[in-house]
Amino acid sequence: MASTPDDSHDGAGDAPRELTQSESALETARRQLYHAASHLDIDPNIVERLTYPKKIHEVTIPIERDDGTVEVFTGYRAQHDSVRGPFKGGLRYHPDVTRDECVGLGMWMTWKCAVMDLPFGGAKGGVAVDPKELSSGEIERLTRRFAQELRDVIGPNQDVPAPDMGTDPQTMAWLMDAYSMQEGETTPGVVTGKPPSIGGSEGREEAPGRSVAIVTKLVCEYYDRPLEETTVAVQGYGSVGANAARLLDDWGATIVAVSDVNGAMYDPSGIDTAAVPSHDEKPEAVTKYADTVISNDDLLTLDVDVLVPAALGNVITNENAEEIAAAFVVEGANGPTTSAADSILEERGVAVIPDILANAGGVTVSYFEWLQDINRRAWPLERVNDELDAEMQSAWHAVRTEYERRDVTWRDAAYIVALSRIAEAHELRGLWP
Ligand code: NAD
Repeated sequence: MASTPDDSHDGAGDAPRELTQSESALETARRQLYHAASHLDIDPNIVERLTYPKKIHEVTIPIERDDGTVEVFTGYRAQHDSVRGPFKGGLRYHPDVTRDECVGLGMWMTWKCAVMDLPFGGAKGGVAVDPKELSSGEIERLTRRFAQELRDVIGPNQDVPAPDMGTDPQTMAWLMDAYSMQEGETTPGVVTGKPPSIGGSEGREEAPGRSVAIVTKLVCEYYDRPLEETTVAVQGYGSVGANAARLLDDWGATIVAVSDVNGAMYDPSGIDTAAVPSHDEKPEAVTKYADTVISNDDLLTLDVDVLVPAALGNVITNENAEEIAAAFVVEGANGPTTSAADSILEERGVAVIPDILANAGGVTVSYFEWLQDINRRAWPLERVNDELDAEMQSAWHAVRTEYERRDVTWRDAAYIVALSRIAEAHELRGLWP
């Protein structure tokens, strides 16, 4: 599948299946909520409200298959919190999509949007379907009918979906078209992650990888490590991994390893990242370009300054956390570090920069896309990248302030920033009626 500018991606989210076998996305999201709340003086009634989603929509989606039979799928949209603005988050097409998964991942989106200080809340949705088993025409019919079923609860001021696992810019184009036809007016701001020719933003696809690179640069600056003297290993060479690796390479870092599902290319003298095709350019070809191939497990424990896990969730576990030799882990994927591994890395003094900050470039440029759509303007790429840089610096500054003030981990600091902002908005708005 081509790489997807998902917002979990609108950020939070590779699935619970990528977190831990024992902990679901919902359990993780609640644990993180309670943990952040324990550091703050927040009204417990607000924490109680945030434990639950505002609404969960469950719909049935009948479609005519190419052979003339009718099949019915189940779709969801879980809207967690909108105190700071419209709900925002991806729509995924995957057989394992469930109601609870959508709730948990929607909560992650609330934290991710808040840490970036975007005027959005969190949501997640999807259809329990294997898109690989449907033709393009069937996926289009599924998407249009799903859009119709959700029409009353989405919209530029209500809830703005985006691509996620199994969905892509074309899916968003169909969704936007179906919504617009029913509304009687072209409404590009109803979804983000669209192709630029119909209101998508320049730079959206590269944004999560770009934010990973920006955050890596900021971390190195913070710890007085010049990028020119920094070695980096990147797991996954897709949208997030390849874009992050190439930017860091351009900015002077030495990328010593990159990988795909087949294994890792390793060159301690530095890889020419532009010469290695990304997943989108030529799927799973990394090892074909390598003189030395190592395993993905070995990549994780290389003696480098920065490790960027940018493929899957749950790759840094209690089994390998003791062996991680990097000084910094910058989370490109969603949930690459299990909570057990997190504790081990904390004890060992490895700085872990959390996914909700590091890969939040995706949802941030989704926000820019939404702004462009509702203002009927198109920003040039340079403006998108400049504004992304400014937003990342500002989020980094807020997280760094809490990190220094409270002597917590970087992950805790990010959740503290997010929860403080959400709690303050709830406090000011109060409980209605
Ligand atoms: P992608 O499909 O573009 O690329 C994934 C890469 O990971 C490919 O190179 C693939 O070969 C590799 N890979 C797959 N299985 C692997 C394995 N077992 N071991 C090592 N490598 C493996 O995906 P992406 O969009 O870059 O997403 C990567 C991660 O980043 C996911 O966790 C995703 O949720 C998260 N994320 C993506 C975005 C986005 O907008 N693309 C935004 C935020 C977070």
